[in-house]
Amino acid sequence: MQDLAALIRAVPDFPTPGVMFRDVTPLLADAGGFARSIDALAEPWQGSGVQAVCGIEARGFIFGAALAQKLHAGFVPLRKPGKLPPPVVTVDYQLEYGSDRLEAQRGALKLGERVLLVDDVLATGGTLAAARALVEQLGGELVGASVVIELVALHGRDRWLGSQQLHSLLRY
Ligand code: 5GP
Repeated sequence: MQDLAALIRAVPDFPTPGVMFRDVTPLLADAGGFARSIDALAEPWQGSGVQAVCGIEARGFIFGAALAQKLHAGFVPLRKPGKLPPPVVTVDYQLEYGSDRLEAQRGALKLGERVLLVDDVLATGGTLAAARALVEQLGGELVGASVVIELVALHGRDRWLGSQQLHSLLRY
């Protein structure tokens, strides 16, 4: 994993002062690194019968779409508000300051479809918890979640309720 860690850029004071942003774009730009990250994201889920990968806008789309191909699964985008045409299902969630919303196309998952959630970064865990609620609203059966980076100091994992595995490749 160290070779992948070398492809993550730490950007101090972005997007606001005091925040250390982990930038995954150098990893995406590196052919070998990107391929290895998808292999490593897929590894825990091989043989688990994942039928749909739900990726969270926007960087979750990039990792999620490649991962869906690797797992021979479909891809379902979980989007920021106002991007998908109706009908949609919606989950609101709290941010440190204010709130945000995730949306999915109604009927995007078949009842009981086995779902893997994917995002680039787990920070406070609010986004992943909202994505999980969305999958439940859609009638999917959650198998687990994978993120490339877990920011452990923010304890996002504590908001991942339930027995499903939450897998991360790199931890800071
Ligand atoms: P959370 O809801 O867990 O606090 O934040 C996770 C969401 O914010 C993810 O969708 C992720 O893309 C974004 N995010 C938060 N911090 C970072 C970061 O340091 N780097 C990147 N690339 N995304 C971040």
